[in-house]
This record gives sequence, structure tokens and C-alpha cells, in this order.
Amino acid sequence: MTRAVDASRNCVQEPGKTDPTPSVGAVVVKDDEIIAVSYRGEDGPGDHAEFIALEKKLKGVDLKGATIYTTLEPCTNRGPNKTPCVEWIIEREFATVYIGSLDPNPDVRGLGQLKLRRAKIETHLFPQPWMGQVEELNKSFFDLFPLDDNKIQRTASEKTDPVEPGLEGPNGYPIGYDDEGNKVEWLPDEENPGEVWAMILRRADPAIHKEYNELWDKVWWNRHMVYSHDKGREECTGTGKLGCEGAARVEKKYGRENLGWSDIDWGLLQGRMSALSWVMGSEWNESLDT
Ligand SMILES: [Zn+2]
Repeated sequence: MTRAVDASRNCVQEPGKTDPTPSVGAVVVKDDEIIAVSYRGEDGPGDHAEFIALEKKLKGVDLKGATIYTTLEPCTNRGPNKTPCVEWIIEREFATVYIGSLDPNPDVRGLGQLKLRRAKIETHLFPQPWMGQVEELNKSFFDLFPLDDNKIQRTASEKTDPVEPGLEGPNGYPIGYDDEGNKVEWLPDEENPGEVWAMILRRADPAIHKEYNELWDKVWWNRHMVYSHDKGREECTGTGKLGCEGAARVEKKYGRENLGWSDIDWGLLQGRMSALSWVMGSEWNESLDT
């Protein structure tokens, strides 16, 4: 375990990556002898420690029954055309895997160990103090994944502010993220020269606008019908003329049978419209204030 942790100290931050990459070391033991030591990136950026040990240093060597010590849970998912380390370990018929720490990334966390268990491989986590050393060495990587399920997890590059130098929002001012992780446009504060305030952008996807407009048509139609109903008649003359024409337009566009006119239908429409309005940047209490 000490050899594996020490090997991981050789890892360097991968060039060109904004997010911290983990430091990982691996040691392969067969018949009580260390037959390979490796670390992530040892032969170039990106190659995992276990992959380097198994496929570069021990290619063709019979590893059946061997033990591997790896300072981070073996990965379970790699890019296209790449085999995850957990599969290399299973394929080479290791008997035992010592894992320095579970991977904090929720996409991997625990899955590597479970996959090894399904393959009937004995697994252990490093005891203290080695696990503590692994965590300490990888602090910035572990910090990328706060274990708070109620919070949206964002990577460092998603939180970088401004998002990209020179990137502008709809009003021509820089885009960034506020303290709560909302995507915002920093607009000049007219009352306090030199200060900025954050206009929440969230998403302004055309598909959302289209859906929102359709919901708004339907909500409006429902309101119009209730209004007319309450008055006991539909006014199509004088001040009621515009509303009457608008309702006819909406009915023609969507078909009256698709407009729904019950409290439940109306509630659903308003709920959906509210949600989209929020996504587009409104506060909840003003999301239907149209
Ligand atoms: Zn891997």
C-alpha cells in the first residue's frame, strides 16, 4: 500500500485540463513478489495506472491469482474504444484487489468494487493511514464531488467565472456563475456605478420558448373562458372584441378539444408554464405574472 501511494505521488496534473485529475498508483503482487509498479500518466497523459501495469508492463504475463493494489477504485467507464480498468483486472483473473479509496465521482463510486465482487474477486479498502494519504493527495479532485445529494454537482470548469473570456449574454455583458451556481449575465448596476448585478439566465433554449409560448396561449385561453363564463356570456363586441378574437385564434391553432377546460387541466398548464418560466429566468413568485 505504501508503494502504491508513493507511486501515485509521481502523477502530475494533466496539461490542458481545467479540473484536477486524480493521482493514482498501482502495485501488482504475484507469489509475494512485486512484479510491477505504475502510476497514472506514467507513459503519457491519460493512461490509467492499472492499465499501464497490466497492458504495458505485464502484457502476456500470467496474472491469475495475483493481487493488485490501486490507490483509487478502478474505473468502470471510459471513452469510446477504451476498456475500463475494472474489466482489465477481471480479464486477467486477479484474485484480490486492494482499493485505496472509492472514487468520489458518483458515476464510478462503488461500482468498480461491486463489479469486482460480481466477478468473485476479493476486495479490500486500504485501512488508515493509507486511505487518509490517498484522500490528502487527491484533495482537489475529491473536492470536485461534494457528497451532498441535494446540491447540483458542477465541475470546476462549469463554475469558472466568466464562463469563457469574452462570452457575452443577451444584453452584451459577460456571462458567469453566481455563488449559487446559477448561470448569470453581469449587468452594470445603474444606481451604483462600477458595481454589477446578476441577471439569471438559466436556459434560453428556443425549444423552451416555443413550449412556453404554447402553454401561455392555452393558459390565456383558459383565463379568457373563465372570465367570460363568470360574466355569463362571451363579449365579442366593444372591449371584449380583442379577447374574443384572440380566443378564436387559439382555438383554431390548437383545436378546442386540445385546450382542456377543467380545473385540473388548467392547473397542469399553469404548473408547466410556471416551471418553464422559472427555467428561463423568472422568480417563482413572478413566473405567471404576465
Ligand atoms: Zn482506469
